[in-house]
Amino acid sequence: MKTFCGRANPTTGSMEWLEEGEDYDYHQEIARSRYADMLHDKDRNVKYYQGIRAAVSRVKERGEKAIVLDIGTGTGLLSMMAASAGADFCYAIEVFKPMANAAVKIVEKNGFSDKIKVINKHSTEVTVGPDGDMQCRANILVTELFDTELIGEGALPTYEHAHKYLIQEGCEAVPHRATVYVQLVESKRMWSWKKLFPVHVEAEDGEKILVPPSEMENCPGVPSVCDIQLNQMPSSDFTTLSDVVTMFSVDFSKPVQSASTYYRVQLEPVKSGKAQIVLSWWDIDMDPSGMINCTMAPYWVQPSSALQWRDHWMQCVYFLPHEEPVLQGEKLYLTACRDEYSVWYNLQKASEGENKAEEEEHEADVRVESPVCRCRAHLLWNRPRFGELNDQNRTHQYIKSLRKVLKTDSVCLCISDGSLLPVLAHYLGAKQVQYFILLFRSLHFSWVFFFKANHLEDKIKIIEARPELLKPSHLEDKKISVLVGEPFFTTSLLPWHNLYFWYARTAVSTHLASNVTVLPQSASLHMMIVEFQDLWRIRSPCGTCEGFDVQTMDDMIKDSLNFRESKEAEPHPLWEYPCKSLSDPQEVLTFDFTKTVPQHCLSTEGSVNLLRKGKSHGAVLWMEYHLAADISVSTGLMQMSNDKGNCEWNPHCKQAVYFFSSVIESEILSDPTAVTYAINFDTKTGEIAMDFKL
Ligand code: SAH
Repeated sequence: MKTFCGRANPTTGSMEWLEEGEDYDYHQEIARSRYADMLHDKDRNVKYYQGIRAAVSRVKERGEKAIVLDIGTGTGLLSMMAASAGADFCYAIEVFKPMANAAVKIVEKNGFSDKIKVINKHSTEVTVGPDGDMQCRANILVTELFDTELIGEGALPTYEHAHKYLIQEGCEAVPHRATVYVQLVESKRMWSWKKLFPVHVEAEDGEKILVPPSEMENCPGVPSVCDIQLNQMPSSDFTTLSDVVTMFSVDFSKPVQSASTYYRVQLEPVKSGKAQIVLSWWDIDMDPSGMINCTMAPYWVQPSSALQWRDHWMQCVYFLPHEEPVLQGEKLYLTACRDEYSVWYNLQKASEGENKAEEEEHEADVRVESPVCRCRAHLLWNRPRFGELNDQNRTHQYIKSLRKVLKTDSVCLCISDGSLLPVLAHYLGAKQVQYFILLFRSLHFSWVFFFKANHLEDKIKIIEARPELLKPSHLEDKKISVLVGEPFFTTSLLPWHNLYFWYARTAVSTHLASNVTVLPQSASLHMMIVEFQDLWRIRSPCGTCEGFDVQTMDDMIKDSLNFRESKEAEPHPLWEYPCKSLSDPQEVLTFDFTKTVPQHCLSTEGSVNLLRKGKSHGAVLWMEYHLAADISVSTGLMQMSNDKGNCEWNPHCKQAVYFFSSVIESEILSDPTAVTYAINFDTKTGEIAMDFKL
């Protein structure tokens, strides 16, 4: 079936209709899936295998037949483990059709077709009985339905249903139990992902402070989980205020309740400070004794030699509703509230000599609702964007540049989503009313609150129009003398999508004064060849996994990656994924914002030398914006230590990663290897196509 999907092109801004068959979503899902990462997760696989063997033995020792239910079988891996461990029969349930088909092939190839029945259904649709999908209820339940938050992929309702309808009472479960751990921390860096800090501006007439409105200060934010590679967060970026505390456990061998509930623990800070963040992770015990444990604990909790890199399970950052000053040794209650799919946290102080009634009252208060953004800023700005707006260094570059280009009679227009630039421009001396195009009405942030809190109501005018529909009357018949943008747009996924600024600039050309200053004046695309420490795993074939041939899966991923004629780059925040540069960074394309977007394509070809030993996993690409003479900001590489090639990346932005289809290893430096590239920016479609030859 073909469907036409309308979408605004992220780079050009024009509406386009894409013909998207069923295949499109499917290939996207496979190509970007985490299956490869899971199959590379040795620690997980080994422990599942141990847990499954132990569970099968326990059932056999009781003289029973081992009947396994594997919910979410994926490649069929866990069922094959069970069959190899001696299970009599496995029902392997998989809701995603392409995966169920792959599981059938993989099971057959490995010779388990008579022991494993793949059922392409959601587990809640599975029937039991002589004519059902399953002949009888299973006595071993095997699943891997967890995300970084443990329950975000619907593990609880799935377990609840399975216990009621699909498995026997007193069954064995692998994993047997999951436990969620938390630690209370203070971290300016992580807190800056939720709160807008005041912005200090040195203006000619004294220091101005831009303050967030109270609506924003008191806003609980959004409920979506913040999952990150916490192992990349240096210990200097946070202070632990409590020990690691067990928050709650789920025993999967017993009936599971998915209904909303809460868990409350008492804790005493080990240090005084500002409680802002709850860091959280979980572990799973594969057997009842807890001897086979697979943990997501970060580096400061377990020896780094035991750390297994994985991207499908990371750690969670939860933001407390308010910053709370806490004292070492005082009595606090931390509450985890959860619904079927998500968790959120609350901190309360226990008052001295609290009696039973008061304690119960406290308990009643903690049943707060899941966080819902009321100020709308958390809907407009995601967490990295908050971090970016709070980055004083970056703001300083913009202030310096604005100072260079603004005059007292400047008429300024800003095109960026939810940008503070118009406010900065106002403080820095542009005394005329500033204009500000609001591009995405659906994400209407309450600028009214914001302007009110800063007494800017009549100083900055919001224009709710698409750039091509801008009329002279919007600008009170004035011509724009300074056009500014960060640029930043919420629709951008890849670095060059923010070139939408250039298209918008082109669309508003007739409103610009002949001597207009455009800030940034230009942008450039940069590229570097890298060796990833770990990220390569997510796109690398597995061949065999714990002795099972899973090449069918590799082929399927490869097919999906090749589905679009040209391979595409994918966005990754590289501060979370360390890599080493193998080449120097190279500027490959420039975009001149002082001129309109040209009709012709922009293309370049060249070669880059590999300077260091290592595996060339791919190329990283990012944008740099040249704000004014000698002032640039990078959305990618910030710094590189030249001897080893270790890179420091912009912590607020995602970079584009183009994985090479084959990896080359450069060993001999006396004979430098070169990578040739051809990069083409199609100004009509706004797409960048690239090709690399090793
Ligand atoms: N068991 C495999 C794959 C785990 S990924 C392994 O360990 O390697 C989880 C899989 O479960 C996904 O393929 C997803 O499509 C599937 N899934 C999740 N919930 C399900 C449910 N309730 N019923 C059937 N399949 C489910």
